[in-house]
Amino acid sequence: MSMSEASTQALVAATTRRDAGIVPSAAATAPVTRAMFDELMLPIYAPAPFVPVRGEGSRVWDQDGKMYIDFAAGVAVTSLGHCHPALVRALTEQAHTLWHVSNWFTNEPALRLARRLVEHTFAERVFFCNSGAEANEAALKLARRYAHDRFGPRKFRVISTLNSFHGRTLFTVTAGGQAKYASGFGPNPEGITHIAYNDVAALEAQFAQAGDAICAVLLEPMQGEGGMTPGTPAFLQAARRLCTAHGALLVLDEIQSGMGRTGALFSYMQKGIVPDILTSAKGLAGGFPIGALLTTADVASVFGVGVHGTTFGGNPLACAVAGAAFDVINTTEVLDGVKARHALFIEGLKAIDARRDVFADIRGEGVWIGCELAAAWKGKAMDVVRAAGDAGLMLLVAGPDVVRIAPSLVISLDEILEGLGRLEKALDQALR
Ligand code: PLP
Repeated sequence: MSMSEASTQALVAATTRRDAGIVPSAAATAPVTRAMFDELMLPIYAPAPFVPVRGEGSRVWDQDGKMYIDFAAGVAVTSLGHCHPALVRALTEQAHTLWHVSNWFTNEPALRLARRLVEHTFAERVFFCNSGAEANEAALKLARRYAHDRFGPRKFRVISTLNSFHGRTLFTVTAGGQAKYASGFGPNPEGITHIAYNDVAALEAQFAQAGDAICAVLLEPMQGEGGMTPGTPAFLQAARRLCTAHGALLVLDEIQSGMGRTGALFSYMQKGIVPDILTSAKGLAGGFPIGALLTTADVASVFGVGVHGTTFGGNPLACAVAGAAFDVINTTEVLDGVKARHALFIEGLKAIDARRDVFADIRGEGVWIGCELAAAWKGKAMDVVRAAGDAGLMLLVAGPDVVRIAPSLVISLDEILEGLGRLEKALDQALR
């Protein structure tokens, strides 16, 4: 063996050892601060002044050891709170078993999760991806391909709604109904029309004018980011009826509304409509990144091998955690518990409003509640969220005028009461 062959073999042997490189680097242990965000990261977020380091249930601690009650759950993501034991167990067991295989193979956690979703929803076929935007991107592509293959290339129009939010890919920001997210990136995808949410007449007019050209109606059952506006039964049912009559697909974006948030596994189950395509993400794995598209066998059949895909979709870690989250959430106990918590939140928020007169409206479903600020405080929702941070409460906005509450589905009674107390302090501080 030559010297160079020997040193090559020695190097391969050294880097094959499973403890190679196990000593943490200085970068892994050096202290970090909030200020580093502005130096190191793309300036697309404006994070709070504190850095969360640890969470348990609906409590989170920052670098200084200050405790926050979590009324945000990410943005409606950590649906079983932080570090739920069933999710930690599923993740660690899977972490010791198999992390990743490509989609040239399937894997057991993905198949088990798909079976659960098919058994408990309208769906017959499932596609896994990594985020909400990616699930909606797939839904729009699938709807276009279905219409193309079944009806021809002229049936490509998508009807969406003003103020909706569907993600940040170029197709999904264009489908979303908030121009500020879609402008400056053009040329944008064509063929998307926005109508006012809940405007049945506008929806009927679109189909009357160009029903043959419409391939899909894309809707959130309740607009979350756009201001916590519930879809009216008349609007959601009209969308279903018109899609069926014109061979268009009803795509329900349940990325925020799904996985128990409204007190049902998916919100459509409470609305008397069944979609052709449903997208899920956020709470699906309780904080581990995953997205999913659910559909019928008929719609799925227009996609063949290689037509769509993603490297990480169906990742065993994500699917194992989602499977565990599904088993906890899809129980009468947890779903009825969401409805009970809704009543407690509404009662507490009404009591705050009776004392302070700060809300024009309190609305929502399950543990997904919007408090619209009274006219005198319009535009101040973000100030309330900042003050909430000071008061030890993680909170969300839904546009400039609505304070949004989207905690864990299993937040405790004590945490609800303590959080509402902190919210009242924040309102006091911000609205003066
Ligand atoms: N659709 C809805 C209804 C959402 O609320 C969101 C995120 O807020 C998305 C899609 C996008 O999901 P993601 O950020 O995982 O891409």
